[in-house]
Amino acid sequence: MNILNNISLKANNTFGIDCKVKNFVSIRNEKDIKVLYKSDITLNSKSIILGEGSNVLFVGDFDGLVIHNEIKGYNIIESNNDFIIIEAGAGEKWHDFVSLSINNGYSGLENLALIPGTVGSAAIQNIGAYGVEQNEFIDSVYGFNIEKHIFQRIYKINCNYGYRDSIFKNELKDKFIISSVRYTLSKSPVVNYNYKDIINLFKEFNITNPTPIDIFKAVISIRNEKLPDWRQLGNSGSFFKNPIVSKKVIVDIKSKFPDIPVFPQTNNLFKLSAAWMIEQTGWKGFRVGDAGVYEKHALILVNHGNASGESIFQLSMDIRKSVKLKFNVELEPEVLIISN
Ligand SMILES: Cc1cc2nc3c(=O)[nH]c(=O)nc-3n(C[C@H](O)[C@H](O)[C@H](O)COP(=O)(O)OP(=O)(O)OC[C@H]3O[C@@H](n4cnc5c(N)ncnc54)[C@H](O)[C@@H]3O)c2cc1C
Repeated sequence: MNILNNISLKANNTFGIDCKVKNFVSIRNEKDIKVLYKSDITLNSKSIILGEGSNVLFVGDFDGLVIHNEIKGYNIIESNNDFIIIEAGAGEKWHDFVSLSINNGYSGLENLALIPGTVGSAAIQNIGAYGVEQNEFIDSVYGFNIEKHIFQRIYKINCNYGYRDSIFKNELKDKFIISSVRYTLSKSPVVNYNYKDIINLFKEFNITNPTPIDIFKAVISIRNEKLPDWRQLGNSGSFFKNPIVSKKVIVDIKSKFPDIPVFPQTNNLFKLSAAWMIEQTGWKGFRVGDAGVYEKHALILVNHGNASGESIFQLSMDIRKSVKLKFNVELEPEVLIISN
C-alpha cells in the first residue's frame, strides 16, 4: 500500500475545497484493511474514510490519515424467480450500481438514481430521494470493526436506520469500515412514483403505466434540471437535514407562519422544510466571496470557485443563526464537517 503525504484533497471532495491532508491511502480489498490496521500509521494518527467526498466539508487542512475506499466488484448471493440478493463493493459508485440493477431488470433503486457517492456511504447515510430510502432494499452490511479487529456482517435490523441516520453514524461512528453491502431487489417491476415532480413529468409525456426504467429516466431528468453539477459548481447536495419536530412546535410555528409546509411522519412527529425556512430568511442566491447558496435551491451551499472550507462553514453557521432567530428551529447539518 502506497501512503501519500501532504497532498491536496480538491479532487476528493465534491465541494472542491482545496485543502491538504497529511497522509492518504487507497484501500482496494479487505486484505488492504487488515494490513493497514496492523501498521503504525492507524495507531499514531486520527483517520477518516472517504468515498467520493460528496457528503463532507473540510473546514481546513486535515492533520491525519484519509483512507480512500476503492473496494470494487459485484457478487450474486442468491437469485430466484422473485428476487435477487446482490453484493456490491463499498467503493462502487452508487449510480453505477443503480444503473446495473435497472439494466438487468431488478427494480427498487430507480428513485435513487444519480445520487453521487459510493455504495458504502449510501449504507451509512441511508440516502433517500423521491419517496424512497436505501434501507428499504438493504439486506446486510459487511466490514471491519476497528476496535475488535474483526470483519463482521451487520443485518439490516441491527443497522438502526432512520432519516439520514444509522448505527454507523452513532455507536459505530469511526469504528467500522464498510467493505461491501448486500441489497435485495425485486425481479418483478415494483414502482413508486408518489412524488409531484415525477407525476408531472409522466403527465407531460403521457406515460400512464410507468416501468422502473421510466422512473429511472424521470429521476435523472429531474435531478439534472434541479441540482447543480458538482463538477461545474462545487457542492455537497442538501447541506442541512429537514428538521423533525413535535406537534407542540408545529402548533406554535403555524400560528406565526401559517404557510409553512409541514409533512406528517410517524409517532406524532412532523418534518419541516429546511429549504423553505432558509428561503424565507432571504438566503437563496446569497453569495459572499466564492461561498454561496444555490440560486435555484436554498438547501444547497455552493463553492463558486475558490471558496475555503472555513468560509462555507461560516455561511452555514450564519444561516443556522437566522433560521433559529426567525423560526426558533435548530438546523442540523446533513454534511459531515471535518476539522482537526
Ligand atoms: C449534487 C448532490 C446531490 C445529492 N443528493 C442526495 C440525495 O438526493 N439524497 C441523499 O441522501 N444524499 C444526497 N447527496 C449526498 C451524498 O451524495 C450522499 O450522502 C452519499 O451517500 C455520500 O457518498 P460518498 O461516497 O461521497 O461519501 P463521503 O462524503 O466520502 O463520506 C460520507 C461519510 O461516510 C463515511 N464513509 C464513507 N465510506 C465509508 C466506508 N466504506 N466505511 C465507513 N465509513 C465510510 C465517511 O467517513 C463520512 O463520514 C447529494 C450530494 C451531492 C453532491
